[in-house]
Amino acid sequence: MRFYSFRLTFVLLFVSSLLAQNAGVSRVPMIGFSSESSARQLSLESKFDSNLSAEEMLAWLKRLSAHPHHTGSPYNRANAEFIASQFRSWGYDAKLEEFQVLFPTPKTRIVEMTAPEKFTLKLNEGQLKEDATSGQKNEQLPTYNAYSIDGDVTGPLVYVNYGRPVDYEELDKAGIDVKGKIVISRYGGSWRGIKPKVAAEHGAVGCLIYSDPRDDGYFQGDTYPKGSYRNENGAQRGSVMDMPLFPGDPLTKGIGATKEAKRIDIKSAETLTKIPVLPISYSDALPLLRNLDGAVVPESWRGALPMTYHFGGKTPTVRMKLEFNWDIKPIYDVIARMPGSERPDQWIIRGNHRDAWVNGADDPLSGLVAMMQEAKSLGELAKTGWKPKRTIIYAAWDGEEQGLLGSTEWAETHAEELRQKAAVYINSDSNGRGFLGMAGSHSLERFINDVGKYVPDPQTKMTVWDRARANQLVNGNATQRSEIMARPELRIGALGSGSDYTPFLQHLGIASLNLGFGGEDGGGSYHSIYDSYDHFIRFVDPAGAYGIALAKVGGRATMRLADADVLPFEYTNFADTIGTYANEVTKLADTMREDTKTANQFISNGMLRAVQDPTKTFVMPKEKDAVPAINFEPLKNAVEKLKESAKNYQATKGLRLSAAKQAELDRLLYSSERYLTTTAGLPRRDWFRHQMYAPGFYTGYGVKTLPGIREAIESRNWKEAAEQIDIAARTIERYAAEIDKATAVN
Ligand SMILES: [Zn+2]
Repeated sequence: MRFYSFRLTFVLLFVSSLLAQNAGVSRVPMIGFSSESSARQLSLESKFDSNLSAEEMLAWLKRLSAHPHHTGSPYNRANAEFIASQFRSWGYDAKLEEFQVLFPTPKTRIVEMTAPEKFTLKLNEGQLKEDATSGQKNEQLPTYNAYSIDGDVTGPLVYVNYGRPVDYEELDKAGIDVKGKIVISRYGGSWRGIKPKVAAEHGAVGCLIYSDPRDDGYFQGDTYPKGSYRNENGAQRGSVMDMPLFPGDPLTKGIGATKEAKRIDIKSAETLTKIPVLPISYSDALPLLRNLDGAVVPESWRGALPMTYHFGGKTPTVRMKLEFNWDIKPIYDVIARMPGSERPDQWIIRGNHRDAWVNGADDPLSGLVAMMQEAKSLGELAKTGWKPKRTIIYAAWDGEEQGLLGSTEWAETHAEELRQKAAVYINSDSNGRGFLGMAGSHSLERFINDVGKYVPDPQTKMTVWDRARANQLVNGNATQRSEIMARPELRIGALGSGSDYTPFLQHLGIASLNLGFGGEDGGGSYHSIYDSYDHFIRFVDPAGAYGIALAKVGGRATMRLADADVLPFEYTNFADTIGTYANEVTKLADTMREDTKTANQFISNGMLRAVQDPTKTFVMPKEKDAVPAINFEPLKNAVEKLKESAKNYQATKGLRLSAAKQAELDRLLYSSERYLTTTAGLPRRDWFRHQMYAPGFYTGYGVKTLPGIREAIESRNWKEAAEQIDIAARTIERYAAEIDKATAVN
């Protein structure tokens, strides 16, 4: 899975005064370090940089992507051995940790249109002579969605746009229901697993997901092999496990999927889909879509295919027959340790997954080989006498693509020890060319901004931080611009899901970061056989310069966290960000109240009816219940308390303490994130325990901040909204009390 899907159009305008102000002056001493230890660290970092080699990194990329290496395949195992042996040669204690997980692979895939004409879908991406690994047919996993159930269903086809709940409201108005029918959705707009989930909730019996060229095909740029974008036969594999419920092995929720683990029966597995689902290319989708009957869809529903988009509902008739091998397969995480010299029981964990859907040069290997460069360079520093203060653990996760299997099972297996010892988890997952993306726990916002100010951008004379800031200024709106101008740090994104930080952050409450470059590399190879070395080297990061930049960012972050005199947590940015979330949910309720009132008036006074074309079907929506007054005071008060506590904690004070006192302070600092979780977790999904950040129940990867409150409001559950406001307020107060304890140590 991948971090970036955004594409930015660079507006050619130079805002020199904006760029000059606040621009990235690196902070000395660095957060968590004294003047002396800062100087030592900086000289270490320049040695670290000199050990990095783009050439060697790209050679690893070529080797690791030479064959398909999905979970359970022979080359996946061979890659694990290779990665572990590399880590050993750099001086790490490296081993494979094995888990046994449910991993379905396709046995039968038949999709055909039976009326008004006959057409059997190819379901084949096809070899290209320009792409050396695209012909490895016997080793490739066919195009499919993992954790779709088996099924043989036939029914009329309905086009559902992105397949989100709001799209079904539109279908209702057009008088179309999907009961007993097969839906076809385009990729995009929501995470793919949401599409079959919502389709099944509305009574559909099957779901096809196709790649519209508007999303990542010819509408965006030239298609592969001429350009990087998805060609007519490209299809997007991917998991449709109900990950917003819980990720990891569907049979061992909340516990490690070891050999001995107690497994539930497949029949009671909650995270499999309820209906069969399959991804298809647009060359397979076009004949079906052309035959859709009924009214023309709204403009926002139209893609870039050469046809008029209709809803369907009666024609055509489609059959899909899917059968899978429901095997339990071994997965292998590579875990490599470098023990800390002074505080070995404080762990800095750095991970990237290593499994791919097919050859996966970009996703995930581009991020993995950058991380390996980083680890190798640290190994070389260790050979010359450097020892990290804290323990560093590198992890190359397996089974990420199917549902964060490797990271989740590892985190669940070692949960108790991780709660005690894990200070920070740093993730990456693929890397491209362009702008530094930083997301994660806002208590690390100042820290990771600082790191970016020390790394040069490969294409300009700026630092990666300055360039990221320039991008946000130039391409942001007026509100975003004034915020950037007013803050010394860039606000980092909040984490939803879609990569391996989820079990650490959202289940265990370990402060986490996710890092990667992107925005300028062409998309279109995502989860296809064309995500290959040949594609990567032409269109993503040809010289590996951004891979090295990622190694510099990730390596500095890891080293600084491992070496700091006091862990570089800082709470005023966190408090500020939580304050904005509190304002957002308050405004959300206010806006909904006004919108509901207006919409209900238009229904009751006949205005809505008056603007309908009487020759077209229109089903009047029902009036919605009015939004009551909601008391946000407990939340506001908690945020005020948090701001006060954050202001009182001063990161620099700890530098004057004895080493023993510093270790005690560290523990309070990194444990604070645990207090943002509750053991009861979120409503209807207790695995997700973090009360500030969660993947959306109906958005998938997309983050919901203050998720308990926000999703209660969005689903118009007013009683639950009030309960969740109290829970969030108490959580924030407990967290503020932990900051006060840290202040007291100083
Ligand atoms: Zn990935």
